[in-house]
Amino acid sequence: MKITVIGTGYVGLVQGVILSEFGHKVICLDIDQKKIDSLNNGILPIYEPGLKDILDRNVLEGRLKFTTDKEYALQNAEVIFIAVGTPPAEDGSADLTYVLQCAKDIGQNIKDYTVVVNKSTVPVGTGDFVENAIKEELKNRDANIEFDVVSNPEFLREGKAVNDCLRPDRVVIGTESEKALDTMKKIYDVLYINKTPFVFTNRRTSEMIKYASNAFLAVKISFINEMALLAEKVGANTQEIAQAMGMDGRISPKFLHCGPGYGGSCFPKDTKAIVEIGKEYGEDMSVVAAAISANEKQKKKMIEKIIKEMNGVEGKTICILGISFKPDTDDVRDAPSLDIIRGLVENGATIKAYCPKGTEEAEWRLENYKNHITYCKDEEEASTNADAVVLVTEWNQFRGINLEELKDRMKGDFYFDLRNVHSKNSKVRSLFKYFPVGQK
Ligand code: NAD
Repeated sequence: MKITVIGTGYVGLVQGVILSEFGHKVICLDIDQKKIDSLNNGILPIYEPGLKDILDRNVLEGRLKFTTDKEYALQNAEVIFIAVGTPPAEDGSADLTYVLQCAKDIGQNIKDYTVVVNKSTVPVGTGDFVENAIKEELKNRDANIEFDVVSNPEFLREGKAVNDCLRPDRVVIGTESEKALDTMKKIYDVLYINKTPFVFTNRRTSEMIKYASNAFLAVKISFINEMALLAEKVGANTQEIAQAMGMDGRISPKFLHCGPGYGGSCFPKDTKAIVEIGKEYGEDMSVVAAAISANEKQKKKMIEKIIKEMNGVEGKTICILGISFKPDTDDVRDAPSLDIIRGLVENGATIKAYCPKGTEEAEWRLENYKNHITYCKDEEEASTNADAVVLVTEWNQFRGINLEELKDRMKGDFYFDLRNVHSKNSKVRSLFKYFPVGQK
């Protein structure tokens, strides 16, 4: 099929590449000329393991193209995916400016029946909103062209996005149109044959499934983080609590790892957005709202703990390991590390930070704090002469860190392990003043 994907970010680019791998002819459209130039030069604008090889192969075989030319990308597509950002507006609701622009562009350009697929995470009712915006443009053109708008939310995880798109847990398709449904089945033929579970539903249910899923995961993390705060006080071990809880099939062990709070481009904004949707419809989303405030509290607790245990951080040098919101991505959006770094700097600390991939983005996100932060080339440089190490993101390379050498390089001996990476290693406790999360 001839498919255009609008937006070449973490979702659109991976989606475009994988759809071409499924054998479709794909054009990836973006307004960011730099991104498109870089893609046309074979350079990925994001870090996503495993993506480059599949992208190169499909470009070489003529199934995948990148452009900023809207007419070229939209006029002949049978299917158009919208995969642009839906960032939070001032009040926390989803800002649909980019989605609306896509709808207008589609309305101004389509020539024949087109299936428009919303992959961006959007509030319930956005399908109607997109449909009306396209109709409006068609009316302006005096064009009578048939189209359908389908909801097909994305559940990929950054860092594991290629596998998640090749082997998704499920594919959700929301449409009331039989014709559009047939097209969607053709697009995902490969997954259908491979027995991937499909959920066919109406558009509004599909839109809500995405928010409900992310809100549930955010609640689950906040729940175990709250248990961790209590466990530290009563002398219990949250890792063991989570392990035992997870043995119950109704609970499952996934997403029960306590830490510095959730971050990233999805959970913080999607939880806020669903609370706002609730307000709009007069429904108090109190459980999700509690998760949001628990998450804010969790990040503050991390800062307070470091300050308390070190007897203040004024004039101290703190090594931060890991800035990206999780391992295997360069995405720093709403990462807990940002709040922790800001909090420590505001209390007088100097930061030496190292992240395998997130440094570039962190530099501009922490622009106002730049005089207090040195970005280092590796963990060795970051920890040299530091009073404390704070491991914020559990990149695999930090798991094998040589603890004796680390201690020798440091001035002090504080180790705050916010991901419990070394909590089962007895050496860490003899070498350092060691503080894991949710246990002694
Ligand atoms: P992103 O910010 O990485 O990428 C968005 C891209 O869209 C950018 O390259 C931008 O230049 C482009 N764009 C904006 N307006 C455009 C327009 N009018 N025409 C063409 N291109 C345009 O965003 P993302 O992380 O890929 O997220 C996209 C959507 O998918 C969001 O709604 C997000 O909530 C959702 N989502 C994200 C993830 C994730 O892990 N990142 C997972 C599931 C769902």
